[in-house]
Amino acid sequence: MKAFDVAIIGGGIIGSSIAFELAAEELDVVLVDREEPGRGASWAAAGMLSPGPDSAEALPLVPLAKESLQLYPQFIGHIEEASEPFMHFASNGALQIFSGPLAEIDRDKMVSDFQTLGIEIEPVSLENARKMESWISPNALAAAWLPRESTVDPRSLMDSILAALRHQEVEIRAGCPVTSISRQGARCTGVTAGGEDIKAKFVIVAAGCHSAFLTGENAVENDWLSRYAPTRPVRGQMLALHSNEIRLHRVLRSDRGYLVPRHEGRIVAGSTLEDVGFNKSLTAGGIRKILDAAIELAPKIADARIVETWTGLRPGSPDNLPIIGPTDIEGLFIATGHYRNGILLAPVTAKIVRDWVRRGQMPASSEIFSPLRFAGKNLQANASRGTAANS
Ligand SMILES: Cc1cc2nc3c(=O)[nH]c(=O)nc-3n(C[C@H](O)[C@H](O)[C@H](O)COP(=O)(O)OP(=O)(O)OC[C@H]3O[C@@H](n4cnc5c(N)ncnc54)[C@H](O)[C@@H]3O)c2cc1C
Repeated sequence: MKAFDVAIIGGGIIGSSIAFELAAEELDVVLVDREEPGRGASWAAAGMLSPGPDSAEALPLVPLAKESLQLYPQFIGHIEEASEPFMHFASNGALQIFSGPLAEIDRDKMVSDFQTLGIEIEPVSLENARKMESWISPNALAAAWLPRESTVDPRSLMDSILAALRHQEVEIRAGCPVTSISRQGARCTGVTAGGEDIKAKFVIVAAGCHSAFLTGENAVENDWLSRYAPTRPVRGQMLALHSNEIRLHRVLRSDRGYLVPRHEGRIVAGSTLEDVGFNKSLTAGGIRKILDAAIELAPKIADARIVETWTGLRPGSPDNLPIIGPTDIEGLFIATGHYRNGILLAPVTAKIVRDWVRRGQMPASSEIFSPLRFAGKNLQANASRGTAANS
């Protein structure tokens, strides 16, 4: 029976990016997905590459997020070399819009906090903000400009990475659920998927919000995995609008929601953050929240056509930080829990896994993301229900 160097469980942006980096190192990689790769959270994302923290709990993530944003142009370049030109990455910046009685105070605090973290941001007058995006609401009271922020269309990116993986001759097994991870003593030796044993020296768990329970949320067989990867689903509702008149060139964002321009007049609006389990329903309340925030940002959006609605399940973790690192089972590595930032964090995650597989090295600063940090802790999920979200 053939033995692979690496078996990757999950073909979302994280698993696919890891496969891409490892195949570039001439390693023999198998990527296993229970569905079509790229149809999970990665398909649902807005694609903002935004390293600024949205809360105090996200502060430890900032250095990793900044590094990943820096890696993005090179990451896209490598994918283009292995597939074809990629047209859906843009570094046009973002405008953060503030309203309400404390608008200027809130803006100045964000500017000062982000500058302290080394994130490029500056206050901008509303007059200049409107020169950049004329659709900004007349009710806006303050604005900040983040020139380095970028966007990517996650669906197109997934298509390009998968094309590159085929070119690299990575074996992609779609419609093939992993039901267990094989172990021999303290070492993992591969996976069982679609009833077949697949041998591999290294196993990477990148199954998004399903990582804790590979065979479904009620499964017990792989319960031990949830000690390392205690993920939970966090629903995000989204919609896409189309307008021939409104042309956005950069991200418009408030603390209630965002508008992200795509090509040909398509604008993505989001989102919600909901702890409702493995439930992908769209709700009237969710869509209303998104539309309220979108129209508040740019009132003319009220005339745009709604062309698509969808939901996705973000991979949350107990502290809402990603879970990236080796376990105490030899050869088993976890790369999940990227929550609201998986698209942004894909290049740096893939680089970390590559260095670990190749040289057995982890960056010293990555200890806070270790899967071993949950040992002996109460893994109560960190809930935040039904609020509008920034990604
Ligand atoms: C509405 C919304 C907006 C977002 N916006 C942004 C944004 O603007 N910027 C950003 O950086 N991030 C954003 N995110 C977050 C981002 O989408 C996620 O962090 C990222 O997609 C996670 O990628 P992943 O590969 O870990 O998971 P997924 O994309 O969910 O992939 C996991 C894969 O594992 C497979 N799988 C599951 N179980 C098994 C099994 N037993 N066997 C084999 N395969 C299995 C699944 O089929 C799936 O393909 C957003 C998310 C949502 C929902």
